[in-house]
Amino acid sequence: MGAKRRFGQHFLHDQGVVDRMLRALAPEAADRVVEIGPGPGALTYPLLDHLAALDVVELDRDLAARLEAHPTAVAGRMRVHGGDVLRFDFGALAGRGERLRLVGNLPYNISTPLLFHLFDQLEFIRDMHFMLQREVVARMAAVPGSGVYGRLSVMVQYHCRVERLFGIGPGAFTPPPRVHSEVVRLVPHAHPPVAVESREALEAVVRAAFGQRRKTLRNALKGLVDAGAMAAAGVDPGQRPERLALADFARLANLAAAAPAQAGHPLPPTPPGP
Ligand code: SAM
Repeated sequence: MGAKRRFGQHFLHDQGVVDRMLRALAPEAADRVVEIGPGPGALTYPLLDHLAALDVVELDRDLAARLEAHPTAVAGRMRVHGGDVLRFDFGALAGRGERLRLVGNLPYNISTPLLFHLFDQLEFIRDMHFMLQREVVARMAAVPGSGVYGRLSVMVQYHCRVERLFGIGPGAFTPPPRVHSEVVRLVPHAHPPVAVESREALEAVVRAAFGQRRKTLRNALKGLVDAGAMAAAGVDPGQRPERLALADFARLANLAAAAPAQAGHPLPPTPPGP
């Protein structure tokens, strides 16, 4: 079956990468694992060798139908959920206090919206092992001051511990993508690393700050956080956003949450996206 570009299909054929992925995940038989985008099953069937049962979410109807015809699905060990993972309700699967382990060689075109979709469901998630475009993983793990530090870095690190695991060249996939890939482990924090009164305020402040990357904080956050209050909270309004640590963004978010009416701009809703 040919790969469909619109679904971001690059199928893994390198057994060494499959083995490394399995070692990173270290599945135990009773784990509640959900694979996102199983495709023809390069990871799926080796995973099923270690698990009592597996849930998979696949958008491509042809591939979902093939998975459903597999003996493990017929026997009820593999449960195939046909549809878009961006609309998938992981909470409905978790149940009985068990948290899910997510794994997937993700379609790169949906990686950022998927991460934001998952941030809303982290209470149901134990950990995530994802294969992503290398540059996206670099942004997720970036530290302040590095060229790729931005909205994704701050929001991922607010929600999860980020561990870069290993890189994969394009030759491991059919067809080979134009980019390099990397496997990342994300573990939701048991307790947030910084105290934020409103996650919406954090998202609004981070979005506004990096939407205006070249501006100082004073200008980028005009209407959201007063420059005087910023300075009083220990954040220099003359700085650029890429130099701010997560704790600084938390302080700004708490200021924005405390005085949205005074600033005259209610916090805007934050749509998912980079
Ligand atoms: N796991 C397989 C492998 O490693 O060979 C396939 C990986 S391929 C990069 C991405 C898979 O995600 C494809 O099977 C594609 O059809 C599926 N997919 C794309 N968009 C999706 C979405 N929104 N929801 C669920 N699956 C999706």
